[in-house]
Amino acid sequence: MAKFTIAIHGGAGTILKKEITPEQEKAYTTALGQALADGFAILEKGGTAVDAVRTAVVSLENIDLFNAGKGSVFANEGSQEMDAAIMDGQTLKAGAVAAVKNIRNPIELAYTVMTQSDHVFLNGRGAEEFARQNAIPFEPDEYFFTSLRYEQLKQAQEKGEMMLDHRPLNHDKKFGTVGAVACDASGNIAAATSTGGMTNKKFGRIGDSPLIGCGTYANNKTCAISCTGHGEPFIRAVTAYDVSCLMEYKNLSLQDAMRFVVHDKLPQLDAEGGMIGVDAQGHAALVFNSEGMYRGVKNNKGLHEVSIYKS
Ligand code: ASP
Repeated sequence: MAKFTIAIHGGAGTILKKEITPEQEKAYTTALGQALADGFAILEKGGTAVDAVRTAVVSLENIDLFNAGKGSVFANEGSQEMDAAIMDGQTLKAGAVAAVKNIRNPIELAYTVMTQSDHVFLNGRGAEEFARQNAIPFEPDEYFFTSLRYEQLKQAQEKGEMMLDHRPLNHDKKFGTVGAVACDASGNIAAATSTGGMTNKKFGRIGDSPLIGCGTYANNKTCAISCTGHGEPFIRAVTAYDVSCLMEYKNLSLQDAMRFVVHDKLPQLDAEGGMIGVDAQGHAALVFNSEGMYRGVKNNKGLHEVSIYKS
């Protein structure tokens, strides 16, 4: 039987074991395990990589532990503006949305952009109008509100900084952007990423997550990648596509290409974070240069891991 694989992340950053209680650790690993199981169930039934990554990301968006969908961080004006992207490595089709408000599952909106529009990337009010026309569910502000996120905004505003959600403002409060990559039994691969972005972001700031080639990329010839970290340097490094280029033009393996980008190239731009990736043979890699990354990987050959810290 062909190898099929899914990997997920819930954000990377300064995530230290000594700062997380056993209860918090259990909550994160349970949530990650559930998302992994939800995505893997699609692959087991012979479903596509696209449906597997969508499903896993929806699962993570629906939990307020992570900075995506419910639980998204606050922008400077006190609103929650979410970004998401999905890419199908078989067709190179992609869909993305940025700065959308009140959308229950931004990844579903990105998927609908990919499958039901002539476009790749919609933003703000236009994306919300497209959502209404396609019966995408909305939720009121209260659904997305968490007092922890609001507290993070107040602290970031006091410092006059834009902050990563997993940065230890309050040492027991860290959350993350979410993403998934998968290889299905037919050898097709896909990537999806969803985020609330960075706390206290201003002026309609958009990060790397919804930008095809930066935070999200998939191509059956090379890899499917979902990134997490400080978006600005990830954009400047065209990070996800850089991994693909190293594989396509330099014949590097998935693992070697990801390691080179995360440990050699990103640090040159002071970029802290990580990424998950798969190739069309079902290999997976989860690589980060930060203290930790919420993550999980599962395949049909018995691999099943959920981890948070550096091993
Ligand atoms: N990359 C995201 C952004 O800059 C943040 C994250 O990964 O947590 O918007």
